[in-house]
Amino acid sequence: MEKQLLQQLPKMDLLLAHPILAEETLPYYARKEGARTALDNLRRGILAGAITVLPSEGAIAADALHRAELLCRPHLQRVINGTGVVLHTNLGRSPLGKTAAQAVYNAALGYSNLEYDLAAGRRGSRFSHIEGLLCQLTGTEAALAVNNNAAAVFLMLSALAAGKRVAISRGELVEIGGSFRVPEIMARSGAVLLEVGTTNKTHLSDYRRAIEEQGAEILLKVHTSNFQIVGFTEEVPLDQLVALGKEKGIPVFHDLGSGALYSDSTLGVPEGPTVEDSVRAGADVICFSGDKLLGGPQAGIAIGKKNFIEAMKRDQFARVVRIDKLTLAALEATLQHYRDPALAAQAIPTLSMLGARQEDLKVQAEALRARLAEHFSAACTFTIAPDVGEVGGGSLPSVPLPTYVVELSPLALRVEDLEEGLRTWSVPIIGRVNRGRYLLDVRTLVQEDWDELERALDHILGESQ
Ligand SMILES: *Cc1c(COP(=O)(O)O)cnc(C)c1O
Repeated sequence: MEKQLLQQLPKMDLLLAHPILAEETLPYYARKEGARTALDNLRRGILAGAITVLPSEGAIAADALHRAELLCRPHLQRVINGTGVVLHTNLGRSPLGKTAAQAVYNAALGYSNLEYDLAAGRRGSRFSHIEGLLCQLTGTEAALAVNNNAAAVFLMLSALAAGKRVAISRGELVEIGGSFRVPEIMARSGAVLLEVGTTNKTHLSDYRRAIEEQGAEILLKVHTSNFQIVGFTEEVPLDQLVALGKEKGIPVFHDLGSGALYSDSTLGVPEGPTVEDSVRAGADVICFSGDKLLGGPQAGIAIGKKNFIEAMKRDQFARVVRIDKLTLAALEATLQHYRDPALAAQAIPTLSMLGARQEDLKVQAEALRARLAEHFSAACTFTIAPDVGEVGGGSLPSVPLPTYVVELSPLALRVEDLEEGLRTWSVPIIGRVNRGRYLLDVRTLVQEDWDELERALDHILGESQ
């Protein structure tokens, strides 16, 4: 019986010649590998007694084609974010808007004036594409961009603070994103750490004493992005630090972390510290991320006084962490949007998602619920519920985002299996399971995602019936 089945398996070359496989545009290596693993799989099934009737040749070819397609699919792929966490670190933080993505495409496809001054016909600076814009938008003298904000902070310290005593509040000696620890980064950069105050309270007089008694030469403020100390706390606002620095003739640096360019009132985005605030307070150098609240590509931006920024550009380490042309293209396009804040709020997905109001999200959730219920009510129940989301990316940890979720309760399938089915779909869909239901937050979904969700459910719920 087994022997007979094994003999009936199509031969490799015949399978490859089947119209389903032969007419495919996939490369030959993938079709061959797909055919081989499809046949191997059948052989194992037959030997284990699990297969007693062979599928049709067409079905085997279709299986081989599916395997070939999987082989050709990139490992880094688009996923659908149903978590409602806008700056989801594991899902790539900020998605780019269409214009920024198009700019990346254009810069990627051919040559560019990356480091070429077209007017002068000679070598130019890669910072020229963003420096003017950043100065214009923030009102600072100079700007540069590097690979990420961790790199910007490290470059700032190594270029401007190596061998110098840097005073920082004990309450700001934070760890960000698992491996960026302020004390260790400072030690690596050659800066000498002077801890000031206590974990929960630091007064201006603590900084003053650090300067007068311990010889502090720089004041550093680090935004405590990803946590909050509650209860009896006190920190010194940036403008008071700047006033002290001016009085003593020493510079003040600010690691702002998430760099929202404008405040809540302009963009309808949850309130938090902004680049505008830091500039107004008068910090000498300000560092922030490109892909947190700014809504651009992964990048680190440093703005501030010209002499400091120029020294950072000249530092050896600047070459190590330099920004690439694709990132520059995306960053320039994103910054361009900010010339018109109303446009930025629409064209930058991070801002439009963060700015979405709960009553609008409710309307969307109800529309999605109705659409899914229309197709799949025999296999699943769908409800909507108010929920509270978060910004993510270690930005604004205490700001709740009131939102709406669609809840799925499959009838003949475990909710964990539904979650897995959606997560391993060809365009993976990431949601979360809570109290026996599968939740999708509509804040981070776009209209095209709804179509994909429907295709996925059609397959997953269809099989459960
Ligand atoms: C996020 C953050 C960083 C690191 O920025 P990346 O862009 O992730 O490298 C550094 N400092 C603060 C305060 C941050 O919030």
